[in-house]
Amino acid sequence: MMIRTGKIRELDPMDRGFTLIAGPCSAESREQVLECARSLSDMGVRIFRAGVWKPRTRPGNFEGWGEKALGWLQEAKTETGMTVMTEVANSRHVEAALKAGIDMFWIGARTTTSPFAVQEIADSLRGTDIPVMVKNPINTELELWIGAFERLYGAGLTRLAAIPRGFSAHDERLYRYSPQWQIPVELRRCIPGLPILCDPSHMAGRSSLVPPLARMALDMKADGLFIEVHPEPGKALSDSAQQLTPAEFKELISTLVSHRESLEEDMKILKPYRKSIEETDRKIVELVAARLEASDKAGDLKRLRNLAVLQPERYKSLAGDMVEEGRRYGLDESFIRSLFEILHTESIKHQLENNNRE
Ligand code: PEP
Ligand code: MN
Repeated sequence: MMIRTGKIRELDPMDRGFTLIAGPCSAESREQVLECARSLSDMGVRIFRAGVWKPRTRPGNFEGWGEKALGWLQEAKTETGMTVMTEVANSRHVEAALKAGIDMFWIGARTTTSPFAVQEIADSLRGTDIPVMVKNPINTELELWIGAFERLYGAGLTRLAAIPRGFSAHDERLYRYSPQWQIPVELRRCIPGLPILCDPSHMAGRSSLVPPLARMALDMKADGLFIEVHPEPGKALSDSAQQLTPAEFKELISTLVSHRESLEEDMKILKPYRKSIEETDRKIVELVAARLEASDKAGDLKRLRNLAVLQPERYKSLAGDMVEEGRRYGLDESFIRSLFEILHTESIKHQLENNNRE
């Protein structure tokens, strides 16, 4: 299915093309929600997140205040003018959240793993075209993530975005959830134009690792960040270790802005070198094609005169010449040998294939 994502108005360039979504892991009380929304709104954040239904791995932990908390989000929206979003995991959540005027939804990592749940959410959203952001499934299965977008898109939802939040990995030591950047990169290739907003909070699992991950996300060309911020992280009822205080968040944003500016500057300086690398690579391809053409002609002659395709003496003297030539330019001998090996193998393969074609 070809997914053509529509524009999410609220994701339009807020800070030179970069979107910030922030708020507490859970909406814990009216005061906590309003205090957090006010401090973020004062910093210029336009989208506020808070979970009201919390999927917990084990029962008995705080599972959110449910519908009651939707009213606190409504109040935060009216008072600050921010766009508000929450997590939905089934059609009851969707109905209650739509009724409460919640502007956007996200589908959590545990829900994305369940095609039934995603389909149920998609069906209950049919006809709304409300923005929906989909977190990656907790396991490293790209297909499930893509499948979730297909189900939503199939129900007529076009204002979609992805939230990489890290993957469960048995060998991950540093992070709570392994970033596995190659997976969101592949998602971007499969669904071009899909905005990607990185959630470094759940990847990190602890607040000190959020800033370096946020910088990596920026370098990976993420379209924005989705970050957990709590007025008093130490007292949070869920994900206490990974939430930033509003002050820490503010500091992070200002370092990201300067990082972004210097990155743009660095890219400008790199540009002429990159151009010259691209031109050189193009010439290399041209030369390789010329080499193969010459060797194909040599192959035709070998065949006519009944000579062996592989002539070890010839190979040895050529390799030696190449190494010698490379030395003049200060090139590493083993590198030159491997490069030559690849070229020579391809030529021999061509000659053998041409022989078989006869
Ligand atoms: C969250 O954002 O608070 C959350 C529960 O996320 P995830 O589904 O990524 O665990
Ligand atoms: Mn959380």
